[in-house]
Amino acid sequence: MKIHEYQARNLFAQYGIPVAAGDVAQTPEEALSIARKAGLPVVVKAQVLVGGRGKAGGVKVVDNEADLVSEFNRIKQLNIKGYTVERLLIAKAVDIRKEYYLAVTIDNIKGDVVVIACADGGVEIEETAKTHPERIIKFYMQGAKELDEARWAPVAAQLFDDLRLRKSVTAILQKLLKLFFEKDCSLAEINPFVINGEGNLMAVDAKVIIDDNALDRQPEAAALRDMKYEDPDELEAKTKGLSFVKLEGNVGCIVNGAGLAMGTMDGVNLLGGRPANFLDVGGSSNPEKVLNALKIILRNKDVKVILINIFGGITRCDDIANGILTALKQIQIHVPMVIRLTGTNEKEAKELLTSAGLRTFSSMRQAVTEAVKATK
Ligand code: GDP
Ligand code: MN
Repeated sequence: MKIHEYQARNLFAQYGIPVAAGDVAQTPEEALSIARKAGLPVVVKAQVLVGGRGKAGGVKVVDNEADLVSEFNRIKQLNIKGYTVERLLIAKAVDIRKEYYLAVTIDNIKGDVVVIACADGGVEIEETAKTHPERIIKFYMQGAKELDEARWAPVAAQLFDDLRLRKSVTAILQKLLKLFFEKDCSLAEINPFVINGEGNLMAVDAKVIIDDNALDRQPEAAALRDMKYEDPDELEAKTKGLSFVKLEGNVGCIVNGAGLAMGTMDGVNLLGGRPANFLDVGGSSNPEKVLNALKIILRNKDVKVILINIFGGITRCDDIANGILTALKQIQIHVPMVIRLTGTNEKEAKELLTSAGLRTFSSMRQAVTEAVKATK
């Protein structure tokens, strides 16, 4: 879950990472009052959960109140990558001497937390990674949650000549790591991380992503979720007890169990199709879940076929069959359904479906082949 810059910088401040004075505003009056408190010049920044706000005209430094109001109104009208701007951050403008990059994230391939630092900040790090990969410093935590200062010291020295700044970056990184682990982040990024006019290090931007799987134990973070950026189908699926992720393809998949759901998606890809979604109806037998799953999948106009793949264990095939039959009565299903059932109460399920005129399969390969064929 991404959070807004103003929320992320509040976390930074809470952990003692230096940020400029400022606050979030929804109206020009609020913006003025924040600017009067912080002192001009201020920077006006669109709060949207997409990158490249600067390039899209969503970040502007102003040095007087008239410009503040006009820039506030201009930025508020912007549409940044499809998103309207509802809130703006007003913060005391920083006199930037030099921009750096500092982040903590997870390297999924190494299975380790990594600190990424770079002496060219501000610009998109992905760009530097392509053009000057040698300039990006990666410092692996090697499983530790606290900074191994002896191992880190040479990296700090590579970034800063000044001994005071080496100490300062070390202290800030320790705070960023604390925040990263305590708040279950997958990313805590400062870009740009700058030397200001007084020669001190501070964060000029703040980006924090919190692991969705940790939200149950991070209620404060969960409350920061901006629903505007959530997929409405995924939200609905969650309230109905379904694990659902929308994808780009056209084979709608209804499967029980996350492992089989992944396997089914692999199967669809291997046999030349593209799954429209990941959907796990879970382990319990509940015909209602099948009905809800069908409703959600059929809203996706790209879907050309529905592939139902059930391996009956705790899930009873006849419950799934009843769910399908209920759905046929209640909703208009305008695409073919390919149904594969095996395991608990398979025979009963197949009888139910066959007598309703539906064809069923026992082999997953056959069913997936049939479903992919229906999309061509
Ligand atoms: P992003 O484009 O969404 O990453 O937004 P940032 O907050 O990183 O701002 C983009 C760029 O605007 C930064 O790299 C800075 O060059 C500039 N900028 C942002 N805030 C300030 C500020 O307080 N003072 C100055 N001088 N420049 C700023
Ligand atoms: Mn930035």
